[in-house]
Amino acid sequence: MKALVKSKAERGLWIEEVPKPEIGINDVLVRVRYTGICGTDVHIYEWDQWARKTIPVPMAIGHEFVGEIVEVGSNVSGFAVGEIVSGEGHVVCGRCRNCLAGRRHLCAATLGVGVNRPGAFAEYIALPMTNIWRHNPGIDQEVAAIFDPFGNAVHTALAFPVLGEDVLITGAGPIGMMAAAVARHAGARYVVITDINPNRLQLAEKMGVTLAIDPRDVPLLEVQKRLGMAEGFDIGLEMSGNPAAFREMLANLSHGARVAMLGIPSPSEVAVDWNKVIFNQLTLRGIYGREMYETWYKMTVMLESGLDIRPVITHRYSWNDFELGFEAMRTGNAGKVVLDWRNAG
Ligand code: NAD
Ligand code: ZN
Repeated sequence: MKALVKSKAERGLWIEEVPKPEIGINDVLVRVRYTGICGTDVHIYEWDQWARKTIPVPMAIGHEFVGEIVEVGSNVSGFAVGEIVSGEGHVVCGRCRNCLAGRRHLCAATLGVGVNRPGAFAEYIALPMTNIWRHNPGIDQEVAAIFDPFGNAVHTALAFPVLGEDVLITGAGPIGMMAAAVARHAGARYVVITDINPNRLQLAEKMGVTLAIDPRDVPLLEVQKRLGMAEGFDIGLEMSGNPAAFREMLANLSHGARVAMLGIPSPSEVAVDWNKVIFNQLTLRGIYGREMYETWYKMTVMLESGLDIRPVITHRYSWNDFELGFEAMRTGNAGKVVLDWRNAG
């Protein structure tokens, strides 16, 4: 089969002919239809320091996908050939204390699809049945392809109750934008999103935010004044990974505010005003991945109850035009970039 492979320990990705995966008794084989490109895939393409120490070569990459079940292992029940599914990109151990307690998103022995094991940028992907999410009939399949990052957005946006709260999101990347739509859907009063890229701010406007602002033009204190807010934002969603954005967030939160942190900063750059955290009695919570499978359930039912995240998909290419997709990602202006694998092979 065809797959997009990190086949050499250098910058780039290559379409290769690789063996079709063989499934074990507990596995499901999926014919991939659409995939989403994640920032992680760009790091792997660029072969940066993180990728060099993390990715074994050769490795078929990619973890955001939707496809159709074409085969199930002899021990698999509850899934059938023909069903439209996505895969949870974290394969957990199933044996540690957290896994046994049902807190699988807290497994410390997680393996990443398309990072530590063969990925979804391929004609077929095999996964344990415990990693398969069946979509409800009628789902938009491009949206289904991005359930993984959509799940990051939902996991973060719903980390704390937002009903009636004022929410500040730093970083209008695809995940920040989707989180904005989710916070709105979940009943927040104001949803303010910040970015320093005008293209991203323009796109965020389509996701139902109250205000999309560049904090260098309009300081957040001014934003609060404009909205008639007096005591700061109740909920912060850090989705930029930028230390300056995080510091501005800390300076604009109410006492007792709660912050969910998804953006990944470079550790050496982060200087936190701990006095703000302590004296303002803030709660900071790290978020990684998605809850298995409460986040997936919430994504499904929010789409069915009117949440629309389609504007976040800005670029669509055929699998063999993957270079164009990665180029769009590198500009920093794209929302989600989706590749179509239906005519591969
Ligand atoms: P992205 O890089 O596309 O978006 C980040 C945005 O932050 C960009 O639009 C950028 O212009 C903006 N930004 C930079 N400096 C800023 C500033 N000072 N103020 C406001 N905005 C600023 O990333 P994404 O794909 O949307 O992901 C968001 C973040 O979440 C990234 O840091 C990513 O690495 C991280 N992430 C974490 C997890 C997890 O499980 N914890 C999963 C996926 C992604
Ligand atoms: Zn575990």
